[in-house]
Amino acid sequence: MNVSWGRWVTLVLLLIIGVAVAAVKAQSTPPKPPQVVKPTIHYQAETNTTTLLGLLQQPAAAWQQMPAGEAVSFGYTPQAYWFKVSVGANDADRMLYLGYPLLDSIDVYFVQAGQVLSQVSMGDQYPFAQRPIHNKNFVVPLPTHAAHDIYLRVQTESSLRFPLEIWSPLQFMEFHQYQVAATGLYFGLILCMVFYNLFTYLVTRDRSFLNYSAYTLSVGLLMAGLDGVGYQYLWPWSVWIQDRIVTMIGSIMILFATLVTMGVLQTKQHSARLHRVLRFFMALYGVIFLLSLILPYAVLIPFVLGFAVICCGFLLSCGIILWRRGLIYARIYTFALGGLLAAISVNSLGYLGLFESVFVQRYAIMAASAFEVLLLSWALALRFNESRQEQLVLKEQLNHQLEDMVTKRTQELKQVMLRLQKANQELEQKSNEDGLTGLYNRRFLNQEFKREFRRSMRSGRELTLIMLDIDHFKPLNDSHGHLVGDQILIELAQVLRQLLRRASDTVYRYGGEEFVVLLPDTDEIGARDIAMKIAEKVRQHAFDTDQGEMRITVSMGVAVARPGVYDQPTQLLAAADEALYRAKAAGRDQIRVVAKRLASD
Ligand code: GH3
Ligand code: MG
Ligand code: MG
Repeated sequence: MNVSWGRWVTLVLLLIIGVAVAAVKAQSTPPKPPQVVKPTIHYQAETNTTTLLGLLQQPAAAWQQMPAGEAVSFGYTPQAYWFKVSVGANDADRMLYLGYPLLDSIDVYFVQAGQVLSQVSMGDQYPFAQRPIHNKNFVVPLPTHAAHDIYLRVQTESSLRFPLEIWSPLQFMEFHQYQVAATGLYFGLILCMVFYNLFTYLVTRDRSFLNYSAYTLSVGLLMAGLDGVGYQYLWPWSVWIQDRIVTMIGSIMILFATLVTMGVLQTKQHSARLHRVLRFFMALYGVIFLLSLILPYAVLIPFVLGFAVICCGFLLSCGIILWRRGLIYARIYTFALGGLLAAISVNSLGYLGLFESVFVQRYAIMAASAFEVLLLSWALALRFNESRQEQLVLKEQLNHQLEDMVTKRTQELKQVMLRLQKANQELEQKSNEDGLTGLYNRRFLNQEFKREFRRSMRSGRELTLIMLDIDHFKPLNDSHGHLVGDQILIELAQVLRQLLRRASDTVYRYGGEEFVVLLPDTDEIGARDIAMKIAEKVRQHAFDTDQGEMRITVSMGVAVARPGVYDQPTQLLAAADEALYRAKAAGRDQIRVVAKRLASD
């Protein structure tokens, strides 16, 4: 940041020095004495009875002599003045040059031996085209080489200054090209800044740049007005605009200056109080601008200038206050505005007749406004960059926060998913399980049985299903209670599980005190064997209950599936059930095997 600061300042200073050198050169090129004459000027204020004829007959004592040297200024005066200049005889052509463009009306009379040779009327009150020579200042060729007097009547609402000179045309041309170059450089710079900021606005859509472009434009227009080139090139057809240029464009310029200040210093964020006052000045100059469209220059100019002093003082204070609060662009802003205000002050002193230097007046303000325009543009760019950086940082922070949040949420979600998965598994297990015995339930049997049945059909291997029912369980329940019945059911489940050690053998609780044993890859012989083992084991087992040891027997129906024997799993189940019924009917504690065979067996 510091490096570019220095580089920028150097660049700006070089430019300013360039403009200044051009201007100084313009002034310091020594005019060759014989051709340029600063004549002795006499003057008097006009009264009600003053006429040209009267003046011609007046003795020399009626006139006052103006002090020689620098341009003479009368300050702001509505009064008309008469000036008299005597010109000696000369062989060469000569020109009268009045180097101050803001005069409303100048009537020039060339008089020889009491006779008016010719007369010219010029000034802001007349269209520009009426000037005998088109120049931003007033230039009139002398009508004769002979000695004669020039009488000038000058009236103006603005500050009256009277820097009168007599030039040779060639010298005039040589001398003024420096001035033209200097002013051209200045207005070129201003125009660049106008368009540069306008394009920056179009790209960034940051309103500060648009305001700044408008501000720069109004600075340029005001300077063009004050310098006379505005009337010469921009509005030569409009006396109306020329009459109001200072009040109209001046108030717009201050209006945009407050807007630019808001933009550069970001007063809305940094100080609500300063911002409010700036808004007030903005509104005030808005009103003054509207008034400038109707009220004459003379009425409004004291207000424009009076408030401008207060407003500019305030703008400068804003810069200093925010500078002291550590705003980097407030420092640049203060330098820029301070430089311009200093130049304006010098200029105003000149206009009021308190300070004498056409050079300082005319070029200091141009150089200072160029300096200000460049520095402010830099401050604005800095400010824009800073706010963009802030936005980027903020965006990055937000992104990080968002990422963190997403990661956290994803982790949480993963954990929830895991828990859900586990719960689902548990639930599924529970839904397949019998709550009392912990064996698989009938629901799961239906599912598994179909699968085993199909597999057996595919592989051609036998699938055995044993349907088992406890004998006389109801009376046992009735006499010892359901709790004892439950204990027996639980223990029977354990006995069956222990007995069936093959991984594929599964015991299901089919309902109440009925169990199903599914034995894949088990033929009729194997099935009989297992059923007998079960019957034997149950018969031998002493069931441990709250009411002491108990003994039970079970009856079993056995059905063996083989391809071609049963088409559906339900048929196998029905066959086993039917066999169980037969076992019961045969006296219980029995095993019945379905003897269904194929014709081929
Ligand atoms: P058999 O099978 O020898 O014909 O006679 P049974 O007394 O066992 O007759 P049945 O099959 O009709 O009776 C089943 C009885 O089993 C009815 C009910 O009291 C009992 N029971 C069914 N489920 C449960 C259970 O979950 N817990 C207990 N304690 N008893 C049950
Ligand atoms: Mg039963
Ligand atoms: Mg029973």
